Amino acid sequence: MAAITAAEQGVARVLILEGTPEPLQKVRISGGGRCNVTHACWDPSELISHYPRGSRPLRGPFSRFACGDAVAWFDERGLTLVEEPDGRMFPQQNRSEAVIQCLHRAAAMAGVQLRTRVMVQRVTTSGDAGFVVEGRGLEAPLRARRLMLATGGHPSGRRLAEELGHRVVPPVPSLFSLTLHDKILSACSGIAIDDVGLDLKLGDQRFRQTGRVLITHRGLSGPAMLRLSAFAARALHHSHYKGVLRVDWSAGLGRAGVERRLQQWRQDQPSRTLSASRPFGHLPRRLWHALLAMTGLEAERRWAELPLKAERRLVETLCAQHLEVRGRGPFGEEFVIAGGVDLGDVNLASMESRRCPGLHLAGELLDVDGVTGGFNFQACWSGGWLAGQAVAGALTGSGRTR
Ligand SMILES: Cc1cc2nc3c(=O)[nH]c(=O)nc-3n(C[C@H](O)[C@H](O)[C@H](O)COP(=O)(O)OP(=O)(O)OC[C@H]3O[C@@H](n4cnc5c(N)ncnc54)[C@H](O)[C@@H]3O)c2cc1C
Repeated sequence: MAAITAAEQGVARVLILEGTPEPLQKVRISGGGRCNVTHACWDPSELISHYPRGSRPLRGPFSRFACGDAVAWFDERGLTLVEEPDGRMFPQQNRSEAVIQCLHRAAAMAGVQLRTRVMVQRVTTSGDAGFVVEGRGLEAPLRARRLMLATGGHPSGRRLAEELGHRVVPPVPSLFSLTLHDKILSACSGIAIDDVGLDLKLGDQRFRQTGRVLITHRGLSGPAMLRLSAFAARALHHSHYKGVLRVDWSAGLGRAGVERRLQQWRQDQPSRTLSASRPFGHLPRRLWHALLAMTGLEAERRWAELPLKAERRLVETLCAQHLEVRGRGPFGEEFVIAGGVDLGDVNLASMESRRCPGLHLAGELLDVDGVTGGFNFQACWSGGWLAGQAVAGALTGSGRTR
């Protein structure tokens, strides 16, 4: 995005150095191969709430280039993005390849050059003359008047930034599932359920999320779980991924609502067994049976025979089930690094370094990360566009401001 923007604005020679044989590999695998390019979230003040790190400082960049701008940018270059009911936006072709092709086409038309298999290993400043870049795959050092680092989560980028005087917030993973190792719950693996309340206690910190959860054979995943992991990423890392998770399966009914429903059920269905009739239609049968088992209730007991004490235990399981967090599960469909170059070291209007003039930084390399839904790419598009504009402004005086 930065390279294309700078070249389209008239910068004569823009060169991308890519360490691997092919750029945009993350785009290729993103969104399960469909690439969730952005999110239909048009209001910058709402948009920032989806960033556990970097939220407030992003208000400025997003007021200049946000989701609507990204949609228009891709549209102008031949890629239509389509909104799904939950707001996520994907290419009309439903394939990440379409995004890659769009970016390659736009880069070629703007005259951006690409060199692959060049791993940048050293960057030095040479006063007013700019930068000297050295690396594996380069026959001789390269000189550049302006330089942009967009190395994603790769450690080499953070090292280069540190060597150029930037503070780096230590990286920790974000967007992962939690391992609970509850045998009864994991028997429900594959069940996805909406409106689940998650309340994670780590020392004196609490993190809450509500939404869709997927039960896995090791614990919990799904959008709400991944969001929780993002907001709690650093605290979970500190606690070695151990803690107590309270799960509310009542879909917002709360204790009073659950109690009322159970009492009503006892009156209406006295002779039916606990397992045969489900008072909560939103809970799949397999999960209902598991919740009964986790409460220590025999499935064949009749509603009329349910002691009050046992009913209270069931209310507790349904509204505040305590589950022990044993560790971090495998990563979710998105996985990002929380941490990176400290935002205080970057002027977010131009993405130019405050420590090293002429150097721009954007993307996952920065201490910015979002929840799932297209928010991580959006921060990359916004930062890339701003950096491209600023580079063009500095080199040609043509940078457009919005
Ligand atoms: C499986 C998966 C799915 C995802 N799905 C989505 C999604 O659908 N929507 C979303 O918003 N986000 C998604 N994300 C997150 C998203 O991919 C990242 O936030 C985004 O790719 C970051 O972009 P970037 O340009 O900063 O870094 P990257 O995309 O990682 O690009 C950095 C590039 O720099 C190269 N590089 C690194 N160091 C050097 C060096 N020293 N010299 C030369 N080249 C170097 C790398 O090879 C790489 O090509 C997903 C992530 C994963 C892992």
